[in-house]
Amino acid sequence: MNSVIRNTLSGKDLQVTRAAGRHFLQIPGPTNVPDRVLRAISYPTIDHRSAEFASLTLDILPGLQEVFKTTSPVVIYPGSGTGAWEAALVNTLSPGDRVLMYETGHFATLWKDMAEQLGLEVDFLPGDWRSGVDPDAVEERLRADVDGAIKAVAVVHNETSTGVASRVGDVRAAMDRASHPALLLVDTISSLGSCDYRHDEWRVDVSICGSQKGLMLPPGLGFNAISHKALEASAEARLPRSYWSWGPMLEGNATGFFPYTPATNLLFGLREALAILLREEGLDNVFRRHERHGEATRRAVRAWGLELVCSDPEEYSNSLTAILMPEGHDADAFREVVLDQFDMSLGAGLVKLKSRVFRIGHLGAFNDTMLLGTLGGIEAALISAGVPAKPGGVQAAAEYLATA
Ligand SMILES: *Cc1c(COP(=O)(O)O)cnc(C)c1O
Repeated sequence: MNSVIRNTLSGKDLQVTRAAGRHFLQIPGPTNVPDRVLRAISYPTIDHRSAEFASLTLDILPGLQEVFKTTSPVVIYPGSGTGAWEAALVNTLSPGDRVLMYETGHFATLWKDMAEQLGLEVDFLPGDWRSGVDPDAVEERLRADVDGAIKAVAVVHNETSTGVASRVGDVRAAMDRASHPALLLVDTISSLGSCDYRHDEWRVDVSICGSQKGLMLPPGLGFNAISHKALEASAEARLPRSYWSWGPMLEGNATGFFPYTPATNLLFGLREALAILLREEGLDNVFRRHERHGEATRRAVRAWGLELVCSDPEEYSNSLTAILMPEGHDADAFREVVLDQFDMSLGAGLVKLKSRVFRIGHLGAFNDTMLLGTLGGIEAALISAGVPAKPGGVQAAAEYLATA
């Protein structure tokens, strides 16, 4: 299926996969982008200082608030999720501030590294990369902080490296039990728009997202939903900030504009994606669809006799599933078989889970038949790669989908 084409810029050969039909992009982000969204992105670029552009912004922002379940402002950066992480930290904190973070996996660790690079003091509660944030551990640590040195608790809602979803509502309850005034910052990059998320109800201070996962867009946008308390903190925060500064962004957004050139065409796509999520399918149906696909996938994994990375059924992610390879089998070699023979991309195991885990993204623009195709490709690849797995995973998923 692989063919070699000439890269016309460098004149060098480029390895590309050219197969009949459509490639299966089943990594947990970037996700499949609906054709309608791609078409919306291809509209002619408009003047970002025009009235037409302002009406686009003013159409999108309330829709984003609905997705975050908040009445607080949401800002949109041209940038990746990592940029939105940085925005959350630099707008609310000062050099040397203590931040409580939790090692749920690779993404939590990257965010911790960023916080340290920015000059924050991080208390990093250790985790096993198979479970989520332990609210009791957070409560205990906050109770011990009698002089209120901890300024923020920063956690990842859906840890994309492990397929574990933390219970953010329970983390908030733990903070309340400890009567601790720290801000709550939450990465919802691989859960917003696919798993239930409640910025206001959980009293999250900054929710962080990116465009390329549940929101069904290409990469390129980062988001912060900002509570009133976070806005107040930003008035005192002293970490250097310029590009990520909320102030000019909120000021411009009030009339539909940005302090610098926005990603105009991605915003066309965002409007289309929000219409699909909010007005056509409806968020509750979106969540139910992801629950079904998460459950069907887990049933397939069990039927194969393989092991999930997530060790607690209360913390199963419904946007992706991470699976351990049987002892003696390399997950990356397996993913290569999946790609070469079945034209499908699966997520790799990251850092501590490298070569031991593969991940199936089942979030975004995705339906039952796409899931069965995905699981069918994996089941065929298990046979082809000689991985000791039992047959019947696709059957188990099909029976569940047919009746649930
Ligand atoms: C994808 C992801 C990120 C990183 O986002 P980028 O857009 O790659 O910068 C951070 N956190 C989580 C949970 C993610 O899934």
